[in-house]
Order: sequence, then C-alpha cells, then structure tokens
Amino acid sequence: MVKKRIYLDWNATAPLLGSVRDAMLDALTLVGNPSSVHAEGRAARGLIEAARRDVALLVGVSPANVVFTATATEAANLVLSPVYRMGKAQLSIGHLYVSAIEHPAVRQGGRFAADQVSEIQVTEAGLVDLEALERLLGAHDATTGLPLVAVMAVNNETGVIQPIRDVATIVHAHGGLLVVDAVQAAGRMTLAVEENRADFLLLSAHKIGGPKGAGALVARGETLMPAPLIRGGGQEKGHRGGTENVAAIAGFGAAAAFARQGLEERNAAIGVLRDRLEAGMRQAAGDLVVHGADVVRVANTSFFTLPGLKAETGQIAFDLEGVALSAGAACSSGKVGASHVLTAMGQDAKTGALRMSLGPSTTVEEIDRVVEIFARIAARRKLSGEAA
Ligand code: PLP
Repeated sequence: MVKKRIYLDWNATAPLLGSVRDAMLDALTLVGNPSSVHAEGRAARGLIEAARRDVALLVGVSPANVVFTATATEAANLVLSPVYRMGKAQLSIGHLYVSAIEHPAVRQGGRFAADQVSEIQVTEAGLVDLEALERLLGAHDATTGLPLVAVMAVNNETGVIQPIRDVATIVHAHGGLLVVDAVQAAGRMTLAVEENRADFLLLSAHKIGGPKGAGALVARGETLMPAPLIRGGGQEKGHRGGTENVAAIAGFGAAAAFARQGLEERNAAIGVLRDRLEAGMRQAAGDLVVHGADVVRVANTSFFTLPGLKAETGQIAFDLEGVALSAGAACSSGKVGASHVLTAMGQDAKTGALRMSLGPSTTVEEIDRVVEIFARIAARRKLSGEAA
C-alpha cells in the first residue's frame, strides 16, 4: 500500500484552505472590473474591500492602511524605497539597515543601492542584536536622510520571534522608520501593530492557507507612504497600479479570517506536536542540535542539524520516505544553498540544517511516523560514519 505523504513544509507554503478555495471560485465568476462604477464593478470592489477588512483585522489597523500587492516580495520592494511621500511633501531615506537573517525579499535591499544597505548582526541564538542596532543607528549620517530599518517578526528558518517592540523603540528614538516582515508571524502569533509599533508590515497570503501571488503592505499610519513601485491607473489609492487580482485578494481575505480565529488554541495544539517531534528526535539522536531552541519560537517550526548528515542528503532521504521538508528556506532555483541564517548565527553552515514546519492539519500519527523515519535516517548516518 502506498503511504500518504506527510507535508512538513508549511513555512515554504501552506496548503490552500477550503474556505479560501470557495471564496476564490466565487470571485472568479464575477465579471466586473473593481474600478468600474456599474453593479458588476461594484460587486468586485465589494470583495476587495471585504478582504481588506479581514487583513486589517488580522494586524489591528484600519482597512485604509492595507495596500494589496502581488507578493510580499513586491511589498518589500515597494516599502524599501529611498523616497517617501507625505501628501505632497517628499521625504528622503538615507540608509537601509536590515537584519542579517532577513528573507532575500528584504535582504536584497529593495530600491536601495548596495552601498546604502548595512546588515544588523544577530546573536548566536538567532535574535537581532539590539546593541549592534543601537551602534549602527548612532553612527547614521542624518544629512543623507532618515534611517530605515527592516527586522522580521519571525524568522522563516528558525521560527525565532524577534523583539520587535524593543527594535521599534530604538529605531524611533533615532527618528527612523521600521519595516517588519510579518510573513511568517501571521497566523502563528498575534500581530497587533499598535503593540509592536512597526511602521510597516509585510504579509503574504500563501503562508496562511491563501493563494500564492497575493501579498500586502500594511502601514501603521495613513499619511507617510513610500513612492509607488508600480504606477498606473491609480488603483490602491495610487500606491499600486494595475487591475486588482480579485480572486487572489478574496482568497487572501478568507485566509486572514481563518488565521485570526482560534489562533491561540490552534498554535497551542501545533506546539504540542512540535515538542513531541523534537523530543522523539532527540531520543533517537542525542547529538541533535535544534537551532533557536533556547529562545522563544513560533510553535510550528523546528530547524535542526544532525551531525554527520548533510542537509541536502537528509532532505532527499526524507523525501524518499514520503516526507516533504526543507533544507533551510525554499530556494527559488530548487537548489540547496548554504543558509545565511545559520551563518549569521555563527553556526557551521556546511552541514546545513533541516527545517520541519507544521500546520493546523498536521496529525500526531504523522509526527510519530516522522520520528520513526528520522530514527532510521539517523541510524544510517551513524553506520556510514563508522565505516568512514
Ligand atoms: N518573507 C518571508 C519571511 C518569507 O518566508 C517569504 C516567503 O518565502 C517572503 C518574505 C516572500 O513572500 P512571497 O512569496 O509572497 O513573495
């Protein structure tokens, strides 16, 4: 009998929720352009505005502060801009500071030239180094413009939750703006902008059961916005031109509504499974190193190195056994590169690390089977180690 595959790669992308699929199929039957004033257009507009309300509720802002984009990567390129506008006034950003563990969507620096971007170190535990941030901003040359800082809320590889509130305090004390990539935090922890004080958030629908190809830039205030990246017919109040992808946005709204409901209970249950998984793996291999385990992580992620097992080899071995997981982040080219997150944490990036990320439909049976498979792979690794 062919065994069902086990999907433990929710941080790469989450399976589409049934409610999302329904919302998208309904939206696809609508004919109107959301900018048209006739009834058909207004019906499409209605779906977009309902989705905007759901996304806004997820992060605790007014719907007016949500700009839909095609992806979080696009939202990053929109917000990482050397030019901002406040009404008719223009504001210059002199330098961009990004944490060393940011996703490439942010780490590439958006619309800044390479020499306008500096990295903020992280600690061995995988937390942004607040003293390093303080030092960098203390040395910022204000004559070039304001500092812009980007620190993610949750790292996609380790699951480590970053001290965003503390980062915001430092950034604001230096007159800067803070962009928070909340892609991996959405649906995995509460994300109230008023609490964490981020000036901008990045979101992606496909990490929370929505469709791929829908993202958002969320602003805390309504006045200060980056210069548009895509100019056109004035959609999204001029912040993002182009006819909206109504079905994708409707799906994003449905996913945001799901993410908000029962968030704590859902993540508590996922945390029990993740802890069972890590306990089982530790029992099978006492030398297992779980990255970020000493600090606070989201409940669904486990990022580990098994000495003697190259991450690439491990990934293939698990895949052959029917388990989908990843070796670090899912690389667009499909190849496994050295993890910049591990390197930034001062870990040996040569062996690499494997990431298992769980979701709401992960079961205890699946976790127990994964532990069994892990034990077999770990034992084989020992045997080949002895033979070598
Ligand atoms: N930021 C983080 C932390 C991510 O994990 C991802 C997705 O891999 C992105 C940004 C990019 O999101 P999108 O696929 O919507 O461009």
